Order: sequence, then structure tokens, then C-alpha cells
Amino acid sequence: MNDPGIICYQHCQKKEKVFSFNLPDICNFCNAELSNTELRIPPFRIPYPFRDAAKEPNSIVIKPTYGDFLNNYRNSSDLHIGVTDSTGFIYEYDVNGVVKGKNQTWFQCLPIKVIDRMNSSLKQYWDKILYNVFIQNSWTADRYDSEKHNCYSFVLTFLKSLNLQELHPYLKDKTIFCQKFVSPQARVAAKYICLFRQLKNQSIVVQ
Ligand SMILES: [Zn+2]
Repeated sequence: MNDPGIICYQHCQKKEKVFSFNLPDICNFCNAELSNTELRIPPFRIPYPFRDAAKEPNSIVIKPTYGDFLNNYRNSSDLHIGVTDSTGFIYEYDVNGVVKGKNQTWFQCLPIKVIDRMNSSLKQYWDKILYNVFIQNSWTADRYDSEKHNCYSFVLTFLKSLNLQELHPYLKDKTIFCQKFVSPQARVAAKYICLFRQLKNQSIVVQ
């Protein structure tokens, strides 16, 4: 859903890959009719990196603070972060206080699986700890501080409360957590967004 369907192919060139929404009629390098000729690399779809948070159980989820990734995202400084439980409810803390819901604004998120091997008892445990953190009285609107007590504070407090050895080294502060979990995903997203925005103004992108 919402995947704009960017494809990639190569006709006669070895180095340059061509990206577009649809296979053009002719090759931009040699003018051959693409429907009647063999392609070096037949068109394949570039993986769409975004997901509906409600369908990403037991994950950390990130999205732009305002708007969506494809149209509004600028840089990693304006990312908002939340947590999903095993049924796809999203728990998030912002200026309005902590909320739990299934919210349309999360339809285009980047999911981060912080635990490699999720099993049913771990899912139950995750849900229980998440709920315990959710009902703490630290997450009220009046305690919110965009620098010191924000969406990351909520997520990091939850992850620390899981008390899992494998996560421990990455939970010291927001910077370390982002380096390990957020930045790699944000880079993948940024590449895709860049292609998408270029293709809104031109029929092909050559890279
Ligand atoms: Zn060609």
C-alpha cells in the first residue's frame, strides 16, 4: 500500500542504472524500443522501505514529526519515535502526553526490529513492560520537554525496562541509540525519498 512502485533496469549500459515509475518506450542511451529488446537487467521494483505501524507488532517505529516521509521529511532531526505492541497499537509520547492508539499518521513509518528472535513469551513480556511504562506518571503533557523529556525518553525508558542484555550497550543515550538503530534505517529511507522526489519532476533518473 502507498508504494509508488519505482522500478530499476539496465538496457545497453553497464554502469548506469535507470530508475522510473514505468518502463519508457525507448532507451534513453541507444533509442532502442524497450518492449522489443532484451534488457541487461529486466525491470525490478525497488523495495519500498515504509510500513503501516499498525502491521508491525513489537517494533520501534519512526516517522517525521510533521507529515509523511515521501513528501515532508527533511532530516533526522525531525523524527518522532514510538513503540508498537503485539496487536499493532502504537504507544507514543509527545507534547500532548502519552497516548496509545491506531493512528493514521503512522501509515508510512520505518519499523525497527530491536530484538532479532521474537517469540510468543517475549511478545507477552514486551507488552507487559510497555504497559507498565505507559502508566507511569512521567509521561504527562506538562512534563514534556522537547530536548530533555521527549518521545525518545519514553522509548528508551521502555527499552531499558525490558532489561535485555543484548540491548544494554545501545541504551545509554539518544545519540548511541540512533547511531545503532535509527540512522541506518533513515539512510535507506533518504535514498528512496530522493529518487521519488526526482521522479516527480522527470521521467527517469540515471545513476
Ligand atoms: Zn539502450
